[in-house]
Amino acid sequence: MKFDHLEKVESDLKRLQDEIWDYSELAFNEVKSSEILASFLANHGFKVERNIAGMKTAFVASIGEGKPTICLLAEYDALDGLSQQADIAEYRPMDERTSGHGCGHHLLAVGSVTAALLMKEYFKENEIQGTIKVVGCPAEESGSGKAYLAREGFFDDCDVALTWHPDDVNALMVGKSQSCISSYFRFHGKASHAAAAPHLGRSALDAVELMNVGVNYLREHIEKTECVHYAITNTGGISPNVVQAEAEVYYFVRSVTGPKCKQLYERVINVAKGAALMTDTQVEVVFDDGLLDVVPNSLLQGVLIDCLNEVGPNEYTKEEKAYAQKFKETVPLSQICNAEISMAVKNAEELKQDRKENSLCSIILQPNSVEINTSGSTDVGDVSWVVPTAQFTTACYSYGTPGHSWQLVAQGKSSIALKGALMAGKVLALACEKLLKDPTLIEQAKKEWDHRLEGQRYECLIPKEIKPHN
Ligand SMILES: [Zn+2]
Ligand SMILES: [Zn+2]
Repeated sequence: MKFDHLEKVESDLKRLQDEIWDYSELAFNEVKSSEILASFLANHGFKVERNIAGMKTAFVASIGEGKPTICLLAEYDALDGLSQQADIAEYRPMDERTSGHGCGHHLLAVGSVTAALLMKEYFKENEIQGTIKVVGCPAEESGSGKAYLAREGFFDDCDVALTWHPDDVNALMVGKSQSCISSYFRFHGKASHAAAAPHLGRSALDAVELMNVGVNYLREHIEKTECVHYAITNTGGISPNVVQAEAEVYYFVRSVTGPKCKQLYERVINVAKGAALMTDTQVEVVFDDGLLDVVPNSLLQGVLIDCLNEVGPNEYTKEEKAYAQKFKETVPLSQICNAEISMAVKNAEELKQDRKENSLCSIILQPNSVEINTSGSTDVGDVSWVVPTAQFTTACYSYGTPGHSWQLVAQGKSSIALKGALMAGKVLALACEKLLKDPTLIEQAKKEWDHRLEGQRYECLIPKEIKPHN
């Protein structure tokens, strides 16, 4: 695999990085971000299909011919409430917008596009059969774009899916994430004068409060890995002298598997029903979103770690190291040490040392055989239930940069971030080359996937009647 072609396109990739960062569009509204990505790939000779699986900001861009088909996932949604000026190592929101790329999904897109461009050159220079598809996946942060793509069969003809995520380390993403269901619980009561006629009122806000109390008691009797969290999305108004007729609370329910998640969700619904009964109100459950746990694949992880080691960590200039140092100093040292990662790597000591001495990751973390479960969730899970999938991270930010933080947004336009995305592109392209050259690897990955699923079939947690919230 030759990477020299990247020099010719680096300025274009930098433009994509900056423009998508500037747009900072939220879930399902990534109109400009998806358009510049799709047209960029179309201009490079990719066959592009827009507006897929009922999502106007989803697309697929293909190159090559025949089997096997490898899907490279791209994301581009931002987060609300994370507006931040670029390159400034202190919290400084922007005046003109409230959103920001607090998870680095603009880089995620650039990395996958980089791999696609490398593969286009590779196909030109080599007589090899295979198709590479960049799948533009909207709404990762909320909305589960990939779950709709998987549910509508967009990964059915795919043999392997690969993806990555910007981070502060170069590492494999091992282990499982959790399944998650989110729903709104809308309580309907009756308004009345809170002092003059309280007996005529039925408080929806009381119902929300009682539901939350009930769920907080439920917590004591759920499995250790399970999590339930909520936000009150409608308090029923700002007047204490009016009994609140309408109120709403938004819940996330997470568990290690889809079926367990559904069971826990049913228990949360029962608590809501109890709260409605106690307050003589009605509860309406509005299903929002559902996504599945990730099915890991050690074979593909093995391919990815070989590629990470072959590409090697990035080297940084003095200026870049100093830039990152300023951001590293904004995070307490205790926060920089991520215990979850240390457990899953062989070179934990080397990592500790590197974190202490450097502002940017200068090593590749080597996985050990421990398969950890992470408490979070991702819609990559749904893809992994349809096709063998593996993921990794590259260092795009200073050591200790927290996820969904202003520090992460601020570093999103830097040369360090671009280096991380280009590195991810190289790793992905190299992995595609290995898989195309040796089809037995894909067969083995499929065998392992079959074995792990033990006959279970993909069942999307989003009911059929629910459409993407475009
Ligand atoms: Zn995120
Ligand atoms: Zn993310």
